[in-house]
Amino acid sequence: MKPITILGGGLAGLTLGLQLRQKGVPVLLHDAATYPRHRVCGEYLSGRALSIIESLGLRPGLDRLGAVESSDVLLSLGSSVLSRRTLPQPALCLSRYEFDRFLVQELTKAGGDIQTGNRIPPQPAEGTVLATGRQPSATQHGWRWFGLKAHARNVNLEAGLEMHISSRGYIGLCRIENNEVNVCGLFRSRSPVPNLASSWKDWLGGDPDSLLQKRICHAEWDESSFSSIAALSLSPQRASVGMGLRIGDALTMIPPVTGNGMSMAIEGADLAATPLVEWSRNKLDWDSAVQKVATHLDAAFAPRLRHARWLQHAMFDPLAQSLTWNLSRIFPFFPSLLFRLTR
Ligand SMILES: Cc1cc2nc3c(=O)[nH]c(=O)nc-3n(C[C@H](O)[C@H](O)[C@H](O)COP(=O)(O)OP(=O)(O)OC[C@H]3O[C@@H](n4cnc5c(N)ncnc54)[C@H](O)[C@@H]3O)c2cc1C
Repeated sequence: MKPITILGGGLAGLTLGLQLRQKGVPVLLHDAATYPRHRVCGEYLSGRALSIIESLGLRPGLDRLGAVESSDVLLSLGSSVLSRRTLPQPALCLSRYEFDRFLVQELTKAGGDIQTGNRIPPQPAEGTVLATGRQPSATQHGWRWFGLKAHARNVNLEAGLEMHISSRGYIGLCRIENNEVNVCGLFRSRSPVPNLASSWKDWLGGDPDSLLQKRICHAEWDESSFSSIAALSLSPQRASVGMGLRIGDALTMIPPVTGNGMSMAIEGADLAATPLVEWSRNKLDWDSAVQKVATHLDAAFAPRLRHARWLQHAMFDPLAQSLTWNLSRIFPFFPSLLFRLTR
């Protein structure tokens, strides 16, 4: 069988590596960094990926690491609770530090060759899959988007996931392993924000007198878990017009408010696996494999990317925000509909 090279060992690359190894395909994976490490992520896994994780036999391992099931969501603005809902399907919350480390162990056990500390130019090439994460974009419509995250103890939550809208962005809180809470926010600014390394607790702490501030006023932060990411691009991209075979954020980022980016990374790996196995077995040429994967990815993701834009507006644009909350009051099924449409 012909080998596959994967550039990027986030969830997309690692899951693809595992899928290919389970079918006997030789896999070489390069990651620019080393494991384990903290990453900016809400650490809230929700959507179709959960069944892929089951089918790959990974769920018991994640449970052993202390992954927490989360079945309700509380949404708050300032000091008020806007809504509280039970989800149609529980999500799974686990730090990316543990999740990625676990996948690296599994891929190594399955015979994958993982090379770390190698930043390889992400050029499309036959037999190479690009899973290199987001394509950086300094600004979008004049806004600079950035994400911050850190773990904390001594934070009491009233729901498995709490989303707090602040004047500068929104912050999600969910319980993860070891009774810690992941605090992760997406923010935007018109001008560069200096000193994030020293001011991150203010950003993650929310507005004065907000419910979020009450939640984390006694937080004991795990300073080593702080991470940040900037130059985020949230414009949806289509696989069929891109170059090479891309999965995960390397193809497109869904607005993080959906809590579906990790799922899309894992689903993308799942959709790419069969055409790649066929290429490896000389049953498909490379261009046909790339085209087949692109068709699958666009069919699966284009509708949810469209609907996710609405949710993103509802977080940042006061008009869309009030329309969304009014619709939710009049039609109680509206939030569940938005949830379903972004999965
Ligand atoms: C603020 C924020 C909150 C989020 N919250 C959630 C959430 O709660 N739930 C959810 O499902 N999703 C969430 N997401 C999205 C989710 O984190 C991503 O969609 C997901 O991690 C994408 O995985 P990936 O494997 O495509 O990319 P990544 O995880 O970014 O991995 C890419 C890897 O490629 C490596 N790499 C890059 N360039 C090279 C190169 N040239 N050579 C070799 N290696 C390279 C990097 O080191 C990295 O390890 C959030 C995102 C943000 C920004």
